[in-house]
Amino acid sequence: MNDLRIYIHIPFCKQRCSYCDFVTYDDKSYLMHSYFKALDTEIALNRQYIEKSNITSVFFGGGTPSYPDAKFIKAALNKFDLAEDAEVTIEANPGTVDFEKLSIYREAGINRISFGVQSFENDMLIIMGRIHDRSMAIRNIKDAKKAGFDNISIDLMHGYPLQTEEGFRNSLSSVVDLGVTHVSCYSLKVGEDTPLQSMLDKGLLPEIDDEKDRNMYKAAQGYLQANGYIQYEIANFARPGFQCRHNIGYWVLDEYLGFGAGAHSYYNGRRFSNITVLGEYIRSLNELKLPEDYSETIDMEESIKEFMILGLRMTDGISINVFSQKFNRGLYSVYGNEIKDCIDSGLLISNGEKIKLTQNGLDFANKVFRKFI
Ligand code: SF4
Repeated sequence: MNDLRIYIHIPFCKQRCSYCDFVTYDDKSYLMHSYFKALDTEIALNRQYIEKSNITSVFFGGGTPSYPDAKFIKAALNKFDLAEDAEVTIEANPGTVDFEKLSIYREAGINRISFGVQSFENDMLIIMGRIHDRSMAIRNIKDAKKAGFDNISIDLMHGYPLQTEEGFRNSLSSVVDLGVTHVSCYSLKVGEDTPLQSMLDKGLLPEIDDEKDRNMYKAAQGYLQANGYIQYEIANFARPGFQCRHNIGYWVLDEYLGFGAGAHSYYNGRRFSNITVLGEYIRSLNELKLPEDYSETIDMEESIKEFMILGLRMTDGISINVFSQKFNRGLYSVYGNEIKDCIDSGLLISNGEKIKLTQNGLDFANKVFRKFI
């Protein structure tokens, strides 16, 4: 049996955040019932692939998977026979859960929860257009612990207009005080055609300062590592043993099937994704048609590129042996010049067994990735 990872996209949010252009809807909750029915159909249409696989992780992402009633999530999860030690994650936004809902998730078999806190500063949360405040986030995280979650992640964002380094450090210290096991620290990406982009264009908010953003990232690295978190990927930190296995699967090119509007899959040498428009996704499945609207075959050359740029995201780097076993070619025979350039510029380091990003390389990872594309 081959290992398989499952991603389930829940494209509903209570309110759209000011910077967000993800596939999610804040005005279509009336479609929730039909959406989950369509999701069931999509899973059923893929039964032949699911049944012959060992499901090692399931990830409910969004959108806000914690916004719909917990019964929908429980029913979707019940459709899969999971490996005994499977990691099952739900993304949750503070302000959409309470102790009861969190307890239902635990009873359903969800064993990891990832809170989209983004900041513990109330003024930042208002600018971000989030629905929660600091006290709500703290209460929800404490409730998750009481409900039995011992694998809790928090997303933090840096590089926001008007954000100060001091404010960001305060958020970091709240994360550590709460004793969570995993932290994802992302730089703000402002979506096109979002209220935040329009405020920036009109000069109503100051442009994001790259240097300040980088300083905040460095502050996160320093503070989290000093407090026992290991940086295992460019943006991810975990207590030992709490790295997100599902996401590591993406970075080592494990196969996964994505279900739901806009969900992506990588399976059997193909990357493909679903229709993003909710009504069309539902209609397609009501007609028992798979809602795929994009597909690309990943040949050997493409797969090698992906292996490099995804694998180098992890601080453990890329194994020279694994590369030759996987592709039947030597890493240096394919990328000798590129690796040498990056080592000479202090962005990569090699110990003879692995190549990995240096500290400087972590800061300028995109420069490295461009070399391998
Ligand atoms: S909660 Fe997440 S997905 Fe929903 S609008 Fe905000 S950033 Fe986008």
